[in-house]
Amino acid sequence: MGIATASTSDLYSEYDINKTYDDPNSYSRGKSYYGKGKYPSDWSRRQDAVWERQNYRCGRCQRYKGDTTGPSEVHHLHHLSDGGSNELSNLVGLCADCHALMHPDIPDTSGRYENAPMYPSDDGDSRVAVIRKAGITYREAVDIGLLEELSSPSTNKYAVNEATANTSSRYARNAEDRLYYYLKGNGYVPRSNPFHELEVDVKLSGVKGLVRRWSPEVSVESNAELIEEDPDKDPGSDELESDRDEDLVSGDYLFTPDASYADVTITEGDGQTTTESVRFSGRSSQREVSETVAPPPLRRDAPSYVIDTIIYLATRGLVPGAILTYAAPQYLPTSQWWTTLPAYILLTGLLWLMLRATFRLWPSS
Ligand SMILES: [Zn+2]
Ligand SMILES: [Zn+2]
Repeated sequence: MGIATASTSDLYSEYDINKTYDDPNSYSRGKSYYGKGKYPSDWSRRQDAVWERQNYRCGRCQRYKGDTTGPSEVHHLHHLSDGGSNELSNLVGLCADCHALMHPDIPDTSGRYENAPMYPSDDGDSRVAVIRKAGITYREAVDIGLLEELSSPSTNKYAVNEATANTSSRYARNAEDRLYYYLKGNGYVPRSNPFHELEVDVKLSGVKGLVRRWSPEVSVESNAELIEEDPDKDPGSDELESDRDEDLVSGDYLFTPDASYADVTITEGDGQTTTESVRFSGRSSQREVSETVAPPPLRRDAPSYVIDTIIYLATRGLVPGAILTYAAPQYLPTSQWWTTLPAYILLTGLLWLMLRATFRLWPSS
């Protein structure tokens, strides 16, 4: 968010703020925390400083100060009534609706928390990045009910209350995008989901494809916007997820409802490309592209094949090899465990590879 222009200490001097008043016990004030008399005499200057720090956007939803119906307000993260201070670091500017969301128990705030956006903005302050609890539509109720199962305390515990879902701020920020995947993973694909979905599975061919740790390059093009690519993989990683035992490279792609087609281009190990096209229909359809491609030629990539084969045999043979070394050390013509163990690992790894290769070369269908 926009903490760009001034540091907090600059703001104290720029806005002529009296640091003594950070402590609410330093000035006399009325008993009610919600009425008049609770604020220090430099309160309006503190508000101005907070809004400058936030570039005049609501700390939760990022709406511009003044764009909403109610007045914009400055909120104590750690509430005054709970012993919070007036330090600038404890203050965040909020639109009236988001402010009401922080205080659902105070009936006379000018905003209505029901009108606050359900999801916090990605660019907002993480300490108030809470999801508004559902209460309006059935879909919201279902969504939030599921999201709450993933809950963990927010950074600012005061932002969690009866009007907000008790989820982590990190999760809350991505919730809207991730909701679809979360619902899908739990068997609830909403019929109304406005996405086209494309699943791409790539299998490597031959025995070479069994051992080789290699992923073909896959690119997907469409007339419409790609909303999200496989959200389970590491952000920023271009590698598609690869499950070696299934020899599958797979990715999920989501497109906006205006998508009419997608072209999937796969670059094989020998540099050749294969393109497969799918057509989308309606507002929401599911399509799949499955391809078997050749890994890089053995001659060209021999060192990698040697390394990958060693890794393959070692990982597949480690557990059975260790068991055999312990349980049946006498069946090999070696007598020391440090020669028996590698021999058993190699043997069981090779046996596993032969079994896999048999099914691969003579498939049942
Ligand atoms: Zn707001
Ligand atoms: Zn407040």
